[in-house]
Amino acid sequence: MTAASPEPGRAPLTTLPGVGAQTAQRLASRGLATLQDLWLHLPRQYEDRTRLTPIRDLRPGVPAQVEGVVEAAERGFRGRPVLRVALGDASGATLLLRFFHFRAAQVAQFAPGARLRAYGTPRPGQHGLEIVHPSYRALGGAEAALEEQLEPVYPQIEGVGPVLLRKLIARALERLPGDDALELLPPALRGDVPSLRAALLYVHRPPPDADLAALSAGTHPAQQRLAIEELLAHHLSLRRQRIALQRHAAPAFGGAGALAARLEASLPFALTAAQRRVFAQVRDDLRQPRPMLRLVQGDVGSGKTVVAALAATLAVESGAQAALMAPTELLAEQHFASLQGWLRPLGVETAWLAGKVSGKARARALEAIADGSAQVVVGTHALMQEGVAFRRLGLAIVDEQHRFGVHQRLALRDKGGDGGLLPHQLVMTATPIPRTLAMSAYADLDVSAIDELPPGRTPVRTVALGAHRRPELVDRIRAACAGGRQAYWVCTLIDDSDEVVAQAAQSTYEQLQAALPGVRVGLVHGRMKAAEKQAVMRAFKDGALGLLVATTVIEVGVDVPNASLMVVENAERLGLAQLHQLRGRVGRGASASSCVLLYQPPLSRLARERLATMRETNDGFVIAERDLALRGPGELLGTRQTGIASFRVADLVRDAALLPQVHALAERLQADAPGVADRLVERWIGGASRYAAA
Ligand code: ADP
Ligand code: MG
Repeated sequence: MTAASPEPGRAPLTTLPGVGAQTAQRLASRGLATLQDLWLHLPRQYEDRTRLTPIRDLRPGVPAQVEGVVEAAERGFRGRPVLRVALGDASGATLLLRFFHFRAAQVAQFAPGARLRAYGTPRPGQHGLEIVHPSYRALGGAEAALEEQLEPVYPQIEGVGPVLLRKLIARALERLPGDDALELLPPALRGDVPSLRAALLYVHRPPPDADLAALSAGTHPAQQRLAIEELLAHHLSLRRQRIALQRHAAPAFGGAGALAARLEASLPFALTAAQRRVFAQVRDDLRQPRPMLRLVQGDVGSGKTVVAALAATLAVESGAQAALMAPTELLAEQHFASLQGWLRPLGVETAWLAGKVSGKARARALEAIADGSAQVVVGTHALMQEGVAFRRLGLAIVDEQHRFGVHQRLALRDKGGDGGLLPHQLVMTATPIPRTLAMSAYADLDVSAIDELPPGRTPVRTVALGAHRRPELVDRIRAACAGGRQAYWVCTLIDDSDEVVAQAAQSTYEQLQAALPGVRVGLVHGRMKAAEKQAVMRAFKDGALGLLVATTVIEVGVDVPNASLMVVENAERLGLAQLHQLRGRVGRGASASSCVLLYQPPLSRLARERLATMRETNDGFVIAERDLALRGPGELLGTRQTGIASFRVADLVRDAALLPQVHALAERLQADAPGVADRLVERWIGGASRYAAA
């Protein structure tokens, strides 16, 4: 009997009466394959048909059910067919029901004198309140009973009508096992939250006196109970993965750190206290004989690269190799230039590998990586490709983690430690992830924060201007360049195919060149050859160019401290994280910088909020929190990249306050009842775990 199986919810939906092959397929196309999937297909709202509201008492915007007699019905045509039905009741008021789509058979139901029960949201119309497309039914002579529960409205499924869906969910709920079979949270840990069974029954069939406002907001204790369990399962799964990884051995780098000390002494600046602290954390991790799993978060310009370089020296000093991978070629090139500049003088051999490195150069790089003579290797995704094998990879550093998936990070890990040792992993991200999200997305990583900028930076002043003010900017650029400063002009388009954007950048480049005869203008975009790009970037960095016209290829990592003015075209099309990254290209030197966000009116509400946020703050964490609130975690992190958006019930923004409780629960469960923890993961994430194989 299925109830004896550990997960009763795993029974396929075809075991439900009324689910044939076709319905099963339609449900499956929305990810609903098991009983449990239906249990967790939660209502998106509720309709209260447990009572009747006198028509006189209706209020605009408040959904209600009324019952009355048709006083008149009229078909008309106002650009399209319309059917208007006047409904009156004992309260002496009349309500207008208005239909735009209707069949002849329907019209017949509205003969004057017919009794109707209708549900909908009244709005003010020309002649008092009206409801457009109410749900309704014609009542015969007999008294019709009222519903006893709030009626759930489920997210629609194509090809499965709402009535059938409701019926199927009700049947699935009949098969909901008792607490003894379903409940996994030990009573001692559960506290006073409802049981899973009670919570599910409540959200599907709330009683008439339920707090509809809380249910609609998703904050009812029954909903929170479900969210807690789901968040718990995800958290446990990430932790489990981490534990599995840390069962492997890694090389312990226990040297004195002489190379790191020499690097630090050779820098033209002193490390900030935050850099020092984070490096110390990394160094402690690297001394351990198990793999480090550490995320370093630091706002744009906080100086993560040098911390990575210092970490790399610890591997090198112990005779291992370090690899640094960046998501774009431009960024990887800059890292390579920085690391080479710092490490070569110390006698460390560096190598460069990107997709465009080919022929002899590629063969040489691969050989140096394989025989270990390349001690520090910098590159793009190319580092993860087949055919790249390290002799002794001891430290894998990934910059801009959120642009890589978890899988890619892991792929680099597998690139060859020696003798079954796994490399340590250091992940760096410049797009601060809201703390709440970081805790969930990176439960498998320790987190360090470089929460301080190097001294002497002045905050960037940001303004948003309509595109018609473009001409003034040309004057500003002229003035800035005349004063020995440099500027960026960033071109963006909706169509972000490289080719179209490159063309737009090309024509902007030509216009600006013509408009600014005294200024040397450069152009960089994604379709240029690496060597060309590099030459332009170098010329800009050396000050030979005053203005750099660029696509968003300069979004991350580009570091030219003398650049103090940035213009971003079509800024309304960019997300907050991207705008913040772009703006981070200025404000790196001592002089006051500004960022001008040009937009095409009219602005959508979201775009206006984004631009306002950019004007109000330079703090990456604040921006990340706003971004999360505006967009939700799915878009922020990318579903495919992290799997984090695949929550069924939980919502990280709404449920953020539950996380501390969830983490404490995870801790205790893992310690006291690891078997239960496994079952929770199995229930919510199951064999489909995107991480399971990691
Ligand atoms: P990010 O954290 O955005 O990757 P970078 O590593 O590119 O920042 O560093 C930004 C700039 O600050 C670089 O020019 C770097 O050399 C410089 N820098 C890093 N640390 C310090 C420091 N402690 N003092 C002064 N400048 C620093
Ligand atoms: Mg960086």
